[in-house]
Amino acid sequence: MAKGKKGEVLVSKFYEIKGDKVVRTRKFCPRCGEGVFLAEHKDRRTCGRCGYTEFKK
Ligand SMILES: [Zn+2]
Repeated sequence: MAKGKKGEVLVSKFYEIKGDKVVRTRKFCPRCGEGVFLAEHKDRRTCGRCGYTEFKK
């Protein structure tokens, strides 16, 4: 599988190092606003609250 590199990029996007802590940074739902995270799926992100779906490219 050639997904190794892509996976690393995604991980670095969703994790942020603050001091000695690793903070998870995920995307918020554009409809519900801050506080509502989108669930990560293999090829898309979905909001469990309003049903918003965003496809990854
Ligand atoms: Zn939503």
